[in-house]
Amino acid sequence: MPINLDISEAPIREARLGAITGYAGTLKDLVARTRCGSTISNCERSFSQTSSCSSGCAQTLLANIVDAAIVNHAPVGCAGDTVYHNIANHYGRFYRQQDNRNIQLINTNMEESDTVFGGTEKLRAGILEAWRRFRPKAIFVTTSCASGIIGDDIKGVISELKDEVPIPVIPVSCEGFRSKVWASGFDAAFHAVLTGIVKPPRQRQPSLVNMINFRGSARAYITRLFGRIGLEPRFIIPFATVEELETISEAAVTATVCTTLGSYMGTALEEQYGIPYVKTIPPHGFAGIEAWLRGIGAAVGKEVEVEQLIAEERAATQAELDEIRGRLKGTRAVVGMGPSYAQSYLGVLDELGIKVLHAASWHYDQHYDYGDQPPAILRAAAREQDITFSVGDQQLFEITNTLSRLKPDLYFSRHPGSSVWAAKLGITAVPVIDEYTAFGHRGLVNFGWRIIDALTNRNFVNKLAERVRLPYSDWWYGQDSYTFLEQEAV
Ligand code: SF4
Repeated sequence: MPINLDISEAPIREARLGAITGYAGTLKDLVARTRCGSTISNCERSFSQTSSCSSGCAQTLLANIVDAAIVNHAPVGCAGDTVYHNIANHYGRFYRQQDNRNIQLINTNMEESDTVFGGTEKLRAGILEAWRRFRPKAIFVTTSCASGIIGDDIKGVISELKDEVPIPVIPVSCEGFRSKVWASGFDAAFHAVLTGIVKPPRQRQPSLVNMINFRGSARAYITRLFGRIGLEPRFIIPFATVEELETISEAAVTATVCTTLGSYMGTALEEQYGIPYVKTIPPHGFAGIEAWLRGIGAAVGKEVEVEQLIAEERAATQAELDEIRGRLKGTRAVVGMGPSYAQSYLGVLDELGIKVLHAASWHYDQHYDYGDQPPAILRAAAREQDITFSVGDQQLFEITNTLSRLKPDLYFSRHPGSSVWAAKLGITAVPVIDEYTAFGHRGLVNFGWRIIDALTNRNFVNKLAERVRLPYSDWWYGQDSYTFLEQEAV
């Protein structure tokens, strides 16, 4: 189904991509049962712990557009993750040597009476205040469960203010209750940018690559890498300007560091403006970067230059990788990450000689917006050995049970809130917070050395495990990790 930019909100991932948050089985089973248009039903939990929501994911992208502002039409508690977004903002601005300032966000502080009598007056005041205080180039109005459930007329308020606030003011439908898959919030943010900011191309820019990412810490490295084949990256969305976002329709190709993140924007730009979207596995590890660079090269007619680049990068790092593989051979790991990274890191850890015992994915898209199954899981399923595989929206009681049963040497997670539980169990936890960890040949080698360092000094996790008492009882550790996951309805 093509992406529809004529509607005001992106359909959620459950509806578009058959996304699920509940499954326990094996990797090969999951892939086989979701192949060729087949889909499986989500398994519900009869017990679950708290998790994230779409609103946070939308705002993590939008809050860092350097000259835009957000009006979060929500109770103040929904803006709790603003602290994290602001830390990420400072980190990103530091990397780019930009002045040190806070994100530009106003929360409308919806209270109980607003849920009875309506919150549109507070929204109106919030938009006017954002315009007065920040003079941004665009304002995004993010919704919440409260403003969504009572049905505040957000578009009506925006329309009434169009003369007083002479910039794009764009609603972002990201209320948490709409979707169990928090990545639906990424799509809501991209939909808002695509419908409210991006302009039709005036002329193509044949060397411009739209690079969809989160924080863009490897900005300098990628700029140098692309420069060697005559290309220039434009990092989107965080830390782009509104003006830069207006012209992403002029790029020669769109690539992404995370296929979960990139699916909606990449596919929409391809369908709407004919910009090829690179649909390979993500650029982590040797296999990842080589497939990804070849995808970019094919899209812009630079196949020869890309092969030369790959040969040089491989020659500079192969010997080091061989040494690392020798040192890590025999180590056993569990992975708990968002779907793109969980799938991609099965390949990364294979390349490092690490055996993965179990992978947990925070959700699973049965196909991407362009219709195919995620390429990294197909690659992982093509390996001879199968592994157990689970899908859960970071249900830490399941993860802790699994870790305690399998007792791996290592736990890899993108989310520190998950890593800390492994550390408390005395398992060496390696958080993969930076999206460019293991990016390319050099990144894989650097990541390998980091793992060796972590395994060499286990003092911290040993001491932590000795002193910390976890809240789970022996009864829980004696249960199957997925006791509370209901069976798939057939
Ligand atoms: S939008 Fe809903 S789910 Fe998200 S933080 Fe607010 S109340 Fe919670």
